[in-house]
Amino acid sequence: AGMSFLVDTSRCTACRGCQMACKSWNQNGASMTKNLGTHQNPPDLDGNTFKLVRFSEHMKGAKPVWYFFADQCRHCLEPPCKDAIEGYVDGAVIHDEDTGAVVYTEKTQGVPVDEVRAACPYDIPRAREDGTLVKCTMCIDRVKNGLKPACVQVCPTGAMNFGTRDEMMALAQERLAALKGKFPKAQLLDPDDVRTIYLVTDDPQMYHPYAVAGLRPGISRKLALRKLFWAPA
Ligand code: SF4
Ligand code: SF4
Ligand code: SF4
Repeated sequence: AGMSFLVDTSRCTACRGCQMACKSWNQNGASMTKNLGTHQNPPDLDGNTFKLVRFSEHMKGAKPVWYFFADQCRHCLEPPCKDAIEGYVDGAVIHDEDTGAVVYTEKTQGVPVDEVRAACPYDIPRAREDGTLVKCTMCIDRVKNGLKPACVQVCPTGAMNFGTRDEMMALAQERLAALKGKFPKAQLLDPDDVRTIYLVTDDPQMYHPYAVAGLRPGISRKLALRKLFWAPA
């Protein structure tokens, strides 16, 4: 059944330790950034940022409140990005049997990133400057050696969790039950379709426009047409 994450947003303090640990483990350089009047920094995922703590401000009555969402690849059980990429290059994406990790290889270089982003329900894939497509790897190099992903290892609050799929599903149900009383809108996001399961306490769109599947405009027309006419037999 492979591995999964549980991201319990109710425990996240937005310390950004996970984001920094991800950069450090993946030896990703700094990203160009600018002040957008929020603590979210850099402004979006990019070729050097596979994990981003998103900050969304909302008003609760007269009081501003912040929602935190430590965004990363969901490692979909049936990853649509893999189909989009492999419409161009066979074997460019590894879907690891043991863990379920979806891992991009160097063969993704040159595949149009916009089409792959459009295929991903969560708007995750990005391109490096050399045209290679990148995203969270599930720290497969660590996990295969019995270590936790760097972002989980460093999280001080228990917001980031990782284990077998059965363990994480059980923990998700336990945490959901514990939060439901206080937060009637508490919910798990697409738990049957993904390996990075988010637990939120309010409407998913309050956290991030693409927190949950089905909020994207949908697969781009160009991609749909290319698949129709050039899909390998
Ligand atoms: Fe691919 Fe997006 Fe699913 Fe990650 S979340 S496996 S990038 S489709
Ligand atoms: Fe980054 Fe590894 Fe966490 Fe993925 S699993 S977000 S690559 S630290
Ligand atoms: Fe939130 Fe944990 Fe990441 Fe800190 S390390 S931002 S508490 S998920």
